[in-house]
Order: sequence, then structure tokens, then C-alpha cells
Amino acid sequence: MDEERPDELEKPETRQPDKPEGRAGAGRAFEVSSFIRSMLGSIGWGLKFAGSAVVDLCLPRSCADCQRIGTLPQKSWCGACWSKIPLIGPPLCPGCGRPFMDSPASPDHLCGDCIERSYRFDSARSAALHKGTVRTRVHEFKFGGQLKWAPCLVDLLETAYAAWGLPPPDFIVPVPLHLKRLSQRGFNQAGVLARELGRKIKTPVLVGVLVRKNQTLPQTRLKRNERLKNVKGAFEIAEDRKVRGRRILLIDDVFTTGTTLSECAKVLKRKGGASEVYALTVTRALPD
Ligand SMILES: [Zn+2]
Ligand SMILES: [Zn+2]
Repeated sequence: MDEERPDELEKPETRQPDKPEGRAGAGRAFEVSSFIRSMLGSIGWGLKFAGSAVVDLCLPRSCADCQRIGTLPQKSWCGACWSKIPLIGPPLCPGCGRPFMDSPASPDHLCGDCIERSYRFDSARSAALHKGTVRTRVHEFKFGGQLKWAPCLVDLLETAYAAWGLPPPDFIVPVPLHLKRLSQRGFNQAGVLARELGRKIKTPVLVGVLVRKNQTLPQTRLKRNERLKNVKGAFEIAEDRKVRGRRILLIDDVFTTGTTLSECAKVLKRKGGASEVYALTVTRALPD
């Protein structure tokens, strides 16, 4: 999603990990773990993630929220912090994945936007609501360049993907950034998430097939109609042969109105000939 950088990046939580008696070794292990991780980080991009995967198998991890160290039941999150994440589950819209928080007893049903066929993707899901620690981690990752948060966000993507029951996609495609923004930020947050998810669910990632030809305005402060106009014609297909007849899973960090994902899906289908396009994001921002 194109989201305007917040005026001031939310500060990382400064809560100290609990240090019960007899856990001094865990603290030392974390220092070693952090040192090795930082060494791997300095080697370079590809090695960083490949290396992290190896290190994560061998060394204790710290929870992405409370920073407690140990064997974490949810990979990057301890059980207590995982239970606080506002994960999206039923009842929801089977089309766009919008949760119905105010009517927990109702069955799944289409939302107004899906009844009006507003979206061009076949369906979409998001792992959690765009609030709390997850929102903070998304902002730190995306605007603060804190790539260390990618694994905890991908754990959320993987959980939502597993619960979805989607037929296996042929390819994963990240929502692209315009080259100018890519050079400013140094990385495409959707691309990083897509690569890590692809590795976990053993699905190839296509980068460069869908490209952003126009630099769009940040979507955050635009109304829905303005957003539609803003992203219309912003994307094009560079190599249609790769997606023709294929089932595509689009990846982005945040689903707000779905206009960017819908436009990407439209281009992948109309111009690329993709047979099906699904969209998965870490968080879903609901209008107030
Ligand atoms: Zn925790
Ligand atoms: Zn819907």
C-alpha cells in the first residue's frame, strides 16, 4: 500500500524483557544471537535472510513484542503477545476478508463493496487489524527500514495463508513500488515480505513482471474515489508470458481500501492473462 510516512515514526517499545531467576544464560544467548544476526546482516541482503533462517534454527529468539527470549510457540511471537494480536477471523467477508467485529455471532457474508463488485481480485485476506504492536512493527519495517521485523510480519502472513485454504498459487507477486520511491526507500517492503513468504510456502516469487509506471500520490489522505483515480493506469505488465493462465497471489503490507490491490489484479488479468488473482496482506486498516 502507498502510505504516507507518519510525521513521527512510532517509537519502538522500550519495555524490558522479564528476567526471572536463572535466566541469565538466556540473556547471554540473546547477545550472541544478536551479534551473529548483525554480522550476517552486514554481509548483505541475500545472505542476510538465508543466514537468518539458519541462525533461527540454532539460537534462541526474542519475541517481536515483549522481547522475551526462548522457544517461541508462534515463531517470532511468544504465546502471551500472540494472543494480544487482533488476528482477523470469522465472521468476515469471503470476498475481501473484511472482518465484522461488531457482529461476532453472524455468519460470514459479503460486504457492501463485494456486493457491488468493487474489487478485481478473486478474494483477499489480511492477518490482523492495523493497530497495536503489529501496526508499529509494520511502520518500523517500512518507514524506519527495520528489516529485522520482516520475519514476525511474515509469520502473520503465513498464518493467514494457512487459514485461508487457498488453492496453491503458481506465483507470488509483490505490489511494486515506483522506481523513484524504491530508490528513496532502498527496498520494496512488499517484495521483502513476498520473498520470505515464498521461501516458507515454497512458491516462486515473480519480481519485475508487474511494474509501477506512474508515481502515485500517497493513498492515506485520499477518499475512495480519489484513490481509484490515483492508481488507475499506474501499473503495467512487463512480461505477460509468465503470468498467462496462472494463479497469482499478490502480497502487500496493508489493505486499506483495496484499490491498489484491485488495480494490480485488474492489470494482471486483463493485460497479463492471469487466470486468478488473490491478495494477502499483513494488516487491514478499517475506516473509523
Ligand atoms: Zn512476547
Ligand atoms: Zn468484501
